Amino acid sequence: MNRLSIVLPIYNEEKNIPELFKKLQTALEGYDYEIVAVNDGSKDNSWAELEKLCANDKKIKAITFVRNFGQTAAINAGIRNATGDIIILIDSDLENDPADIPLLLAKLNEGYDVVSGWRKNRWKGQFITRKLPSIMANLLISKISGVKLHDYGCTLKAYKREVIEHIDLYGEMHRFIPVYTKWYGGKVAEVPVSYQPRKHGKSNYGMSRIYKVILDLLLIRFLDRYMNKPIHFFGGAGLLCFAIAFILLMGALYLKIMDMKTFSQTQLTTISAFFGGTGIQLILIGIVSEMLMRTYYESQNKVPYIIKKKINC
Ligand code: UDP
Ligand code: MG
Repeated sequence: MNRLSIVLPIYNEEKNIPELFKKLQTALEGYDYEIVAVNDGSKDNSWAELEKLCANDKKIKAITFVRNFGQTAAINAGIRNATGDIIILIDSDLENDPADIPLLLAKLNEGYDVVSGWRKNRWKGQFITRKLPSIMANLLISKISGVKLHDYGCTLKAYKREVIEHIDLYGEMHRFIPVYTKWYGGKVAEVPVSYQPRKHGKSNYGMSRIYKVILDLLLIRFLDRYMNKPIHFFGGAGLLCFAIAFILLMGALYLKIMDMKTFSQTQLTTISAFFGGTGIQLILIGIVSEMLMRTYYESQNKVPYIIKKKINC
């Protein structure tokens, strides 16, 4: 049977921890499992609660950070310390119900590598103010990232170990783990799960998450397409600038030959010089990025591909 690792990021959840672990233990009865709880520098008694739980149950592993590093870092540490064949991520604030875990596992057994929770009944009765913006945001993220999901915001997800163990998570990229796994050839599915608003504590993210998501999305798109060939991106933009500079210069030349305006009378020459300068900068950035990319791979003996199987090698 597959061994499960449940990874929990925990920041100031002392009031949720007892109920959360009770629900997890009930939901996981009969499974071979471990719980990896990562205390992300909580300022309350979360760590003391975890110590108590660990003393009574050897299936619970707990890790604590020296200070708050953020949810992504906590998830990253949890994944690196997990030993299961299947890794399940879930928030610790009981917004998701551990009783839904078997649903995810059943779907995973149908041959998927990632199964994502979808809080289908969230925002009931708040269609215009909450549901519609959420639908639009998820559509946009799906379109740009190339992985169609209804609910990127739902952390409750199950992953086969192979697709998640090599992923490096920075910033707040936990939101885009399904996109990373797709790069590793993973097949992604969704199942509806229940949702309950937080009873204790408060959300750690406000409206500021919107601009962060937009920037991360741009980065995801860039990494997906140009990680191994940044010169094509920057160089392409640079060449476009050169083309615009050339056309503007030709325009200025035309005006001069036709005796309509001298070089100093027209703005075209200045704008052309601006585009020419920008073009040079972009190409230089492209070259620097190529050097960085090579350092990234070669310094760690990484290769820009993933082999599935080998025969007689
Ligand atoms: N969390 C964390 N470190 C942080 C912020 C949050 O480990 O710096 C944990 C938090 O305890 C919770 C999960 O990440 O288990 C999601 O956080 P939250 O409920 O605040 O986010 P939201 O549900 O509003 O997206
Ligand atoms: Mg929450």
